[in-house]
Amino acid sequence: METAGRKAMDALRLKNLRKVVGYALRTPFYQARLKAAGITSPRDIRSLKDLARIPFTSKEDLRECYPNGLLAVPMSRVVRIHTSSGTTGIPTVIHHTKEDLAVWTDLVARSITATGAGKHDIFQNMMTYGMFTGGLGLHYGAERVGMTVIPMGGGNSRRQIQIMKDFGTTVLHITPSYMLHLHSLLAECKVTLKDLRLKKAYLGAEPYSEDTRRKIEKLWQIDAYNSYGLSEMNGPGVAFECEHKNGMHVWEDVYCVEVIDQRTGAALEDGREGEVVFTNLLREATPLLRYRTRDVAAILKGACPCGRTHRRLARIAGRTDDMMIINGVNIYPSQIEAVIMQVPEVGNNYQIILEKSGSLDSLTVKVEISSGMFKGDLAQIDRLKERIKDNLRASIIISPRVELHEPGSLPVFEGKAKRVVDDRAKL
Ligand code: AMP
Ligand code: ZN
Repeated sequence: METAGRKAMDALRLKNLRKVVGYALRTPFYQARLKAAGITSPRDIRSLKDLARIPFTSKEDLRECYPNGLLAVPMSRVVRIHTSSGTTGIPTVIHHTKEDLAVWTDLVARSITATGAGKHDIFQNMMTYGMFTGGLGLHYGAERVGMTVIPMGGGNSRRQIQIMKDFGTTVLHITPSYMLHLHSLLAECKVTLKDLRLKKAYLGAEPYSEDTRRKIEKLWQIDAYNSYGLSEMNGPGVAFECEHKNGMHVWEDVYCVEVIDQRTGAALEDGREGEVVFTNLLREATPLLRYRTRDVAAILKGACPCGRTHRRLARIAGRTDDMMIINGVNIYPSQIEAVIMQVPEVGNNYQIILEKSGSLDSLTVKVEISSGMFKGDLAQIDRLKERIKDNLRASIIISPRVELHEPGSLPVFEGKAKRVVDDRAKL
């Protein structure tokens, strides 16, 4: 399936699209939505082009259906419930049947295999277990390929390092911010890279830049693979990098991916950046059609040397709700990260603070410097600050204040990092 030709793949996708439209029509929500679009039966979907006739589904729609409004099967067939990890508002709820979980598990297993890992690997899963899909999602896929799974979950950093050493962990699943933080604890734990057998890390759950990936690979001497997913589309395993690490293959036999202009909803061609929209073609319990993810990325043009025919998604630039408008200029936190992570003296953590200064917005970027840099040489520190400031100004147009902080002094997150503190509404 991973190397299937377009024709065979599209034939399968059409069959699955009809199936999922049939599932969706079992819910009053989609009955009404689809009827308004002239779709009252799966037979109304004649080709994949008819996908465009289906209205988008938004996060608000899911919230309005909380908790069971989108359920398309009797609850007795539901074997698991997940919710999104959002900390504000009503969470979005996804129900899974046994069959839904089997599809998800296979996709995660496929993703792991695409990175060259397998049954000889020791897999330490540092993503939070529970309602958040990062933990259980990778867990079952890793077992499916026969990896030795260590279900650590998030947090407890020193113990994580000890376990990595004692069990000879070869593959990690972790957020990029936490991966950077863990590295800064190695010395304190008296563990060196030679004590570890680490080869790979799957990094996801939050936006991060290519330079952060490179930095992590260099610090840990490993290969880091970008892993993307969202609970509404199951969780991890929606798109994953293969051994070539050049964008994430979207498993197109199960997911229809579209990129749209976030204002007009118009389709954008491959290569153009916009909001990513997914349809899960194989979900029975909570069918979701044309779900607007709020994630911003482009579909990459061209084929991947690995031979997989599934199109690739570029690194996620950010979320439409994370976009900061600073004195009228639109900036994603990842643009700032990309600049600071290119500076060798920069350490493993940063924070972005937005405040009001009179009628204008002011931007402060707090940056940890790498250990060994604080030598008390103030002139050196000032030069570094100026350099970071100049680089930022050149990239994002806005001139920020730059603060340098000691290693380990900025807040650490075991789950998704919260990089931006927006105090502009504060009086
Ligand atoms: P959740 O549904 O709580 O698992 O959160 C899913 C969201 O996490 C996605 O919609 C993205 O915004 C973000 N996310 C997950 N993986 C990545 C990744 N590899 N790069 C950037 N953002 C990611
Ligand atoms: Zn590939």
